[in-house]
Amino acid sequence: MVLLVDDQAMIGEAVRRALATEPNISFHFCSDPLQAVALAEQIKPTVILQDLVMPGVDGLELLAQYRSRRTLQDVPIIVLSTKEDPKIKSAAFTRGANDYLVKLPDVIELVARIRYHSRSYLALQQRDEAFRALRESQQQLLETNLVLQRLMRSDGLTGLANRRHFDDCLNSEWARALREQSELSLLMIDVDYFKAFNDRFGHVEGDEALRRVATCLSDMCSRSSDLAARYGGEEFVMILPGTSRGGARLFAEKVRLCVQALAIPHEQPAPMSTVSISLGVATLTPRMDMEPTCLVELADRGLYLAKQNGRNQVGIAEPD
Ligand code: GH3
Ligand code: MG
Ligand code: MG
Repeated sequence: MVLLVDDQAMIGEAVRRALATEPNISFHFCSDPLQAVALAEQIKPTVILQDLVMPGVDGLELLAQYRSRRTLQDVPIIVLSTKEDPKIKSAAFTRGANDYLVKLPDVIELVARIRYHSRSYLALQQRDEAFRALRESQQQLLETNLVLQRLMRSDGLTGLANRRHFDDCLNSEWARALREQSELSLLMIDVDYFKAFNDRFGHVEGDEALRRVATCLSDMCSRSSDLAARYGGEEFVMILPGTSRGGARLFAEKVRLCVQALAIPHEQPAPMSTVSISLGVATLTPRMDMEPTCLVELADRGLYLAKQNGRNQVGIAEPD
């Protein structure tokens, strides 16, 4: 797509004839330099042939105008000058011309230059488009990865953190507490008589009850460092960094009451009961000779005590 801007109709006609038999070249002629920029934006030429001396408009100024438009800033411009003058040449190239021909050039040379500039312009556009598509797919990949990461870290039934995320979080909070010599608390939580609940009301109701218990736990996480996770089956855990033994015990009691307040009907341990949980609380200030599993085992022992003592309560085991 060639656009010739020249005030002389004779030049327009000469170039039209020169290009008429050329395959794959379409030609537009603009004799009014005031219309040139608008026309170029409309027809999107791959080469502009630009006259320099025209009434009313300085051709050099026109070059600067093309270059100031985003859609035209890279379009190759071949200046058609009447003179082989180094000064004019220099000015034209400074203003953004890509090539310089003295009017009227030999047809073979004109066609060769038009084809050369068109081809490199189209290649540039293809490269830009490929980069744009690449950036777009990279962005999509990034977003998909974020979604995938979230899915990998969350439990499908309850939406809480899953076991893998819990393990990662426990390890990093343990390391932090070891560094800062701060207290780290853990609650191990187990739904009471849940096998009987499933047997009586079915697994669909059972799943719904687990979801509601999970919502209680996540609602209780007020600090950004608190984490509620599904440990497996009807067992949950909560990590409470920077929380003392007394604080964790009080917190556990609030969680117990929160689940109690759900008032999900159950028939164990007695008719007219509601679903309850038992909780084991553990608090440690990590030492170099201990592993994070120490905290889980301690909370497990607390949970065992709570079950032993009749369920629906908080149990605390003393560290060895
Ligand atoms: P306890 O009071 O001693 O904890 O008794 P329990 O019946 O709750 O404990 P047990 O470990 O015997 O049974 C746990 C039950 O939890 C068994 C299983 O059917 C149920 N359960 C585990 N995971 C799921 C789940 O994802 N959905 C449902 N609906 N039930 C589950
Ligand atoms: Mg259990
Ligand atoms: Mg249970």
